Amino acid sequence: MVTMAESDFSSVTMPPHAWADIDLKAVQHNFLLAKSHLTSPLCRACAVVKSNAYGHGVQPVVAALDQVMDANDQFAVVSWQEASVVKEVVPHRRVLVMRGPVSADEMSAILAGGMDWVIHSRYQLDLLLDCIAADPSGVKSALVKSEARLWIKINTGMNRLGMPIKDARAVLAALSELPFILPLGLMSHLATADDLGDTLTEIQFLAFQQAETELVLPEYTLKTMAASAGILSWPQLHMDMVRPGIMLYGATPMMGRVGPDEGLRPVMNLKSRLVAINHVRAGDSIGYGATYVSEHDMRVGVIGLGYGDGYPRHAPNGTRTLVATEQGVITAPLAGRVSMDMLTVDLSHDQSAKPGDEVLLWGQAWGHDLPANEIADAAGTIPYELFCRLTQRVPRRYIRS
Ligand SMILES: *Cc1c(COP(=O)(O)O)cnc(C)c1O
Repeated sequence: MVTMAESDFSSVTMPPHAWADIDLKAVQHNFLLAKSHLTSPLCRACAVVKSNAYGHGVQPVVAALDQVMDANDQFAVVSWQEASVVKEVVPHRRVLVMRGPVSADEMSAILAGGMDWVIHSRYQLDLLLDCIAADPSGVKSALVKSEARLWIKINTGMNRLGMPIKDARAVLAALSELPFILPLGLMSHLATADDLGDTLTEIQFLAFQQAETELVLPEYTLKTMAASAGILSWPQLHMDMVRPGIMLYGATPMMGRVGPDEGLRPVMNLKSRLVAINHVRAGDSIGYGATYVSEHDMRVGVIGLGYGDGYPRHAPNGTRTLVATEQGVITAPLAGRVSMDMLTVDLSHDQSAKPGDEVLLWGQAWGHDLPANEIADAAGTIPYELFCRLTQRVPRRYIRS
């Protein structure tokens, strides 16, 4: 079954020049694959769906994941605004606000929304204490009702969000004075888990263990360090909860690998069509800046998508696209700069492609893979950025079976 969420093909006379097929069965497969890596059956999975589920569309992705999750599995986003969208779809699930509150208003919204949240800086403790002082019974009943978990985030070497151990100790001391018990978690984030040869992961693990022994943590405290790279490559770091993001969407964070190497299935299959086929002679240039000069007579395919749709402008000559022609699927490498609305590709080794033929820019189609990892590598970026940067102009078409 195919449904449109953000736009509808039937409302226009022609199919759009670019669209993304979003395979929700693949999201479910990838979530279950993440869980199959876990070293303990008690370890829970917290699916990261920030930034509109990495550009895939948060509501349909959350609904699809909810169907295959266990009772203790949950979601994570960055802001409370994102969390409220997720809560609307799955009111019965925990949703973690990973940035925590940055103002009194945000603190109230998180408490009222029954969200799990992160405290990564001392000032956020004051936000909580101020809220409690303003309305002790209201906050208490909201917290008791939601059983919201507070995650204390410590810095173990990433040096982005996270407090030093002495601050964590002060926060724990203040929490122990409260007239009610908050379910707690201890969390940290890894900086180099995508690189098996980097020693920082081991150092961060040791720092986390050190914190565990130095802090007097209540027995019920859960622990988490691993995101996708930790799940795939660092089983000793799985702990009580893992936080898969990119792998749910079928790409791998691991350097030098592509999603299918991990058994992941692509979720976003970005497609367009040939809108023209031209001929240039040897010595002619193609596109802006005339940076590409054809060495031979060439059939040039023009594809109806560009950086205005989210295709990376820095993708170099030779980056692969796949074209579904009457005679079968062919590889067509980029020739000339990426423009806002168009790409040009070399079709000199093919005689069958014609305007209207479908083109795959990344993902999977017609039994062929064109991993987002490969396109990202070619363009000097990461699949996270490709997915998040897909623009509003590209309708998402949800495929549920
Ligand atoms: C984004 C994020 C994740 C997910 O990371 P992936 O590499 O996409 O799996 C996990 N934890 C935190 C704190 C994050 O910000």
